[in-house]
Formats: sequence, C-alpha cells, structure tokens
Amino acid sequence: MKPLTEPEIRTAFVNCTKGEAKRLSVPRDLAERPWDDLDFLGWRDPQAPDRAYLATERDGRPVALALRCPSATSWQTRRSMCSMCMTTHTGGVSLMVAAKAGKAGQQGNSVGAYICSDLACSLYVRGKKDAGVGARLPESLTLDEKIQRTVANLAALIAKVTA
Ligand SMILES: [Zn+2]
Repeated sequence: MKPLTEPEIRTAFVNCTKGEAKRLSVPRDLAERPWDDLDFLGWRDPQAPDRAYLATERDGRPVALALRCPSATSWQTRRSMCSMCMTTHTGGVSLMVAAKAGKAGQQGNSVGAYICSDLACSLYVRGKKDAGVGARLPESLTLDEKIQRTVANLAALIAKVTA
C-alpha cells in the first residue's frame, strides 16, 4: 500500500471521536514500515495493551479502525485462526472488537473479529514473518490470491463497521 503519514492516519479513523483520534498513539517509525508488503498497517497501543489500531486504503482513501482487545482469556492458549489472513497461531490470535461508526457505535454496537495479535497479517501471508510449524494450511491459492483474500476480509470488516 501507499505509505501513510501520521496526519493522514489520524483523520482516517471512522469509529472513534476526533478527540480520541488526535490523542491515540500512532507509530513513530512510519517511514521505516515495509509499506510495499502491507495491505494494512496494524499496531498495538504501547500505553494501553487492550487497544489496537489498523489503517488501510479503500477506494484510494485512507481508512482506520480503533479496536479493543478484551484481556487474555483461556482460549488464547489454544490454536486459533486469524479471520483476516487465515494464519493459525497458538495464543497469537486475539478477539478484536471495533465499535461501529456513527450513531450505532454510540449506542454500543460493535463488530468483533479474530485477528493476529500483532496485526502483522500482511507479513504472514507473504511469508515475511513466520508463525511457526503448521501455521499455514496447505492451500492451492497463489500468493496474489491470498493477498486478495486478506484485502477482501479486511474490506468486509470495514464495511460492517461503517454499515
Ligand atoms: Zn492475521
């Protein structure tokens, strides 16, 4: 994806208030991120471990989501699969909850998805990050098809949040 700047990311949030988007922590090393290998930039908040964020592009415009990760529970020690990139991790997948955009979100509606805890889906798909033995099921899809699938899964999540 095209590199994003901090102001672009802050203004791209669709499911938190402007004040929250202004205050939340955006990585300082944006210039060093491997943008060419990213379908989205995902990061955890170093100050608030239950918060995560992701930023991507849809129809040529930046879109970012604020996510909550409920605290670790027993299921996290089991093997589970990321619903974005289909990587299976032991204890490395988190349930992330996104408040819906606008009124629905203010009324407490949210959308949940199981996502790689480090939000490095793009790198797992491309084999640039290793999730360990058995992390990827043998598939006949090409790399391009797997990338397309990840992008489609993410687009579906964003569509649910903004619906
Ligand atoms: Zn993933």
